[in-house]
Amino acid sequence: MLLPDPALVVLVGASGSGKSTWASSRYRTAEVVSSDLLRGVVGSGEHDLDATVDAFALLEQVVSARVGRGLTTVVDTLGTDVVRRRRWLSAARAAGLPAVAVVLDTPAAVCRSRNAARERPVPARVLTSQLASVAATADLLEAEGWQVVRVTPDESTKDRPESDDTARRRETAAPPVHAGLRGVVLQLSRFPADGDLLAWLRDMAAAAEEAGLAGIALMDHLIQIPQVGRAWDPIPEPWVTLGALAASTTRLQLGTLVTPVTFRAPGITAKAAATLSALTGGRVFVGVGAGWWEREHAAYGLGFPSATARLDALERAIETMRALWASGTKPYAGQRVSLPETTSYPRPVGDLPLIVGGGSDRTLRIAARLGDGCNVPSDEAGLAKVDRYLAMVREAGRDPSTVHATVLDLPLVGRDRDDAWSRVERHRGRAPAATFAARHHAGTATEHAARLAGLAERGVTTAFIAPVGLDGPDDVLALAPLATAFG
Ligand code: GDP
Ligand code: MG
Repeated sequence: MLLPDPALVVLVGASGSGKSTWASSRYRTAEVVSSDLLRGVVGSGEHDLDATVDAFALLEQVVSARVGRGLTTVVDTLGTDVVRRRRWLSAARAAGLPAVAVVLDTPAAVCRSRNAARERPVPARVLTSQLASVAATADLLEAEGWQVVRVTPDESTKDRPESDDTARRRETAAPPVHAGLRGVVLQLSRFPADGDLLAWLRDMAAAAEEAGLAGIALMDHLIQIPQVGRAWDPIPEPWVTLGALAASTTRLQLGTLVTPVTFRAPGITAKAAATLSALTGGRVFVGVGAGWWEREHAAYGLGFPSATARLDALERAIETMRALWASGTKPYAGQRVSLPETTSYPRPVGDLPLIVGGGSDRTLRIAARLGDGCNVPSDEAGLAKVDRYLAMVREAGRDPSTVHATVLDLPLVGRDRDDAWSRVERHRGRAPAATFAARHHAGTATEHAARLAGLAERGVTTAFIAPVGLDGPDDVLALAPLATAFG
């Protein structure tokens, strides 16, 4: 079960229904605010009913402060007080947080026997009235505006069922060109400043193979980009580096995400990619884009023409690369490019998918007409572009099951929820913690796997992931649960 996160989560259930257990198995201690625990803080213990008023005053203050900051807040009370529920709901709406009511549907008899086994059971008639008000509350929640989730003791551990859509797609879809690219590809964007770069690359690649990831992608930049690090952080040339990775991998797909057509004449990129394909037995993809960062062009003495001219160059580059990768040596006379011969050896092994990066309408059209795939961000705006791209593929008379709809995803992956949160604190810089955590879907690998499976249901075939704070091979091994997210 995948709940939105961050979110306000209000538990609804009688004593002994398993609320506190459910909350503590899924959330950090600081995320759960419990009226019982607060009775123990301001009173003699969890069952000190005289402390109820003080405990609830504190609880309201904690809920309002956390929700106001956009932080995940799990409210562990009976959940049956409609006035409090309405207040929490409007606080969540004001903060832009999803509001989820989790109903613990534990059978009355189970609650009764658990209650009886407790050191200080609630009186039987109190439990009876709790069970009645929980049942009545459960019927109101949807109309109040909550996203309602029901938990029964067994269902809480079941896997997400596969939707009919996914099952149908699995039956009918032809394998895309270069099916090896389907899945989760690790993008390496930060590199160690000192030490043995080759040994580090080998360790990272070995971990990626062991974790079952589909491939490794490298950025193609001349100066480290500000989104990732400082200008003086190392950013090795990708085709040379991919050559090193070719020698230390046997299974991973290797390629760039993305190579700007402004850096090298397209024939030179075609030559590098074909050589890498020959070196790896065909484990290569090529990401291409129009280039966007003027500074690196100026620093390296490269021209940086207008966006229109760069997109024209992107179209010519794709045509040129395909012409050189095609069999034989015959002359090529295309729509935009003419070559007197297309002699290029070694030949690539098998097909060599071209993934076009960028989300403008013209870029998506280029990807749909000339490329083998698109690459857009994994957020809602990006997913809308995936839809548009797949529509354009159909309009171009192509079969959508033969292309790669890829996204770039920047997950923050923790070993558990506490670790995820300490990583948020370490990496958020000046961004508010809740904003940073939401942008990177801070959570465990299992939670990310469920989220990526949701992307697959929306037509995404490949997620390029650049995890926040990816330091060494252990961080890569921890990505193993993501490897099967795309089936
Ligand atoms: P609350 O009063 O709703 O907060 O219930 P608790 O979370 O304190 O759970 C009451 C008792 O039921 C505790 O002894 C738990 O260990 C036990 N319990 C809670 N959830 C489960 C469950 O899913 N399975 C089993 N077997 N026991 C549970
Ligand atoms: Mg409890």
